[in-house]
Amino acid sequence: MDPKNYRFETLQIHAGLHPDTETGARGVAICPTAAYRFRSCDHAARLFELSEAGNIYTRLQNPTTTAYEERIAALYGAVGALAVSSGMSAILVTVLSLAAEGDNIVASPFLYGGTYNQFRITLRKLGIDCRIARSERPEEFEALIDGRTRALYVESMGNPTCAVPDLEALGDVARRRDVPLVVDNTFGAGGYLCNPFEWGANIVVDSATKWINGHGTAMGGVIVDGGNYNWGNGKFPQIDGPSEGYHGLNLYEAFGTAAFIVKCRVDGLRDLGCCPSPFDSYLMLIGLETLSLRVRQEVESTRRLAEYCLRHPKVRSVSFVGFDTHPSYENARKYYRYGSSAVFTIELKGTLESTVRFVEALQLAAHMTMIGDSITVVTHPASTTHKQLNEADLAAAGITPTLLRISVGLENAEDLIADFEQAFAQVEE
Ligand SMILES: *Cc1c(COP(=O)(O)O)cnc(C)c1O
Repeated sequence: MDPKNYRFETLQIHAGLHPDTETGARGVAICPTAAYRFRSCDHAARLFELSEAGNIYTRLQNPTTTAYEERIAALYGAVGALAVSSGMSAILVTVLSLAAEGDNIVASPFLYGGTYNQFRITLRKLGIDCRIARSERPEEFEALIDGRTRALYVESMGNPTCAVPDLEALGDVARRRDVPLVVDNTFGAGGYLCNPFEWGANIVVDSATKWINGHGTAMGGVIVDGGNYNWGNGKFPQIDGPSEGYHGLNLYEAFGTAAFIVKCRVDGLRDLGCCPSPFDSYLMLIGLETLSLRVRQEVESTRRLAEYCLRHPKVRSVSFVGFDTHPSYENARKYYRYGSSAVFTIELKGTLESTVRFVEALQLAAHMTMIGDSITVVTHPASTTHKQLNEADLAAAGITPTLLRISVGLENAEDLIADFEQAFAQVEE
C-alpha cells in the first residue's frame, strides 16, 4: 500500500518514523545538539547556499523536529511543515513571510486574544495593516481586499464562542482575488477534526501546545503549507524574486510548490530564531500517536457534559457548537468531523461571586487558561483573560460575569459530571 493512502490513525504513528539503521531503534531519538559537523568545506558551502538539503544548526533544523514536521505534513496531506516554539510564533513567521511594510492582511473578527494583539498592535508598528472584517461573511472579507492585501486570515473555530466560518466560501474569495487563505486550525486538532486544505486554505497554522501535544507538557506551533498557491503571480517578490539573504536565489524557482514553507524556515526561523527544542518535538511526536483517540473521546465527553449543563437549574445557557441552537451548527457539521470540538461555554444564573465560588469548588476540573489538555479546564474570562475590560467592553465581546469556558479532557465523563454536581451544590442560584 502506498504510504500516501494510509489513513489518519496510521499516519499519526508511522509518518516521520524511520527506524535507526545502525541500532534498529523503533522510537524517534531526541537529538540534543545545537550544530552538525560538515563533511567538508564544500559540503558546508552547498548547505549554506541551499543547493543541498541537510542539517546546519538547530535554529534551522534538527532530526527530532524533522520527524515531527514530516508527521504533521502527512496528517494534513501537505507539501511541508515547519515547527516553531509556540502558536504565536507560527502566526508571526507566517504573516512576516507574506507581508511587508505597506501591505495589509484581512482577518476575522473572532480571533484568539494573542493573535488580535499581535495583529492590531505589533504588526501595525511594523507597518502591516490588519483589517478586521465586520463579520465572518465572505462579502465582508472581500470588501476589505485591495492590491496590497497579502493574506486572508481566519480561525477554523473561533475562541471562545466556537464560531465556524464558511471555509469553502472564503476559499472561493481567496482564489478569485488571488490572495492566500491562512487558517488557524488549532481547534481542528492537527487536521483530525478539520482539515482546511480540503476547503481551499493555502496555509494552516496550529498551536501544537493544545491538542497536538494533548497533555499540557510543552509549548509549540506549526506552519503547514498546502503547496496549492501560485507564488509566481507577482505579489510575492520575497518568494518569486531574487532573495536578499541568499545571493539572489529565487525560492519559487528552486523549491516550486514548497517555496513558502522553505521561505518560513530559511528566512523566518533564521532571522527570528523561534525554533522548538528537540525535547519538545519529541513530546509532540508522542502526543500525535494518540491524537485521534484522545480527541474522539473528548468530543464524546463534551457532548455529555454539555447536555448535563443544559438540564441544570443553575445554568442560564449552554453554547455548544454540536447543538442545533448554536449559530455555527451547520458549518461545524460541514467542516468538523463529529460536528464539534471539545470546547463549550456555559453561563451561570448567579453573580460574578457565585461563579467564582463554583470555579473554586471544582476538584477535577482545573482552573487555568488552556484548551486541548488531557485534564479538563475551566476558564472564567471575566476574572482572567478579560479582567482589564470594563463592563461595556465585556458586553461587546460577549463576555458576561458568569460565563465559563470549558475544555473537556480525558477523565471519565461521569466523574466530570459528579464534579460539576458537587460544585453546583455549593452555590446558590
Ligand atoms: C493558544 C492559541 C494560539 C496561540 O498558541 P500558543 O501556543 O499559546 O502560542 C493561537 N490560536 C489559537 C486559536 C489558540 O487557541
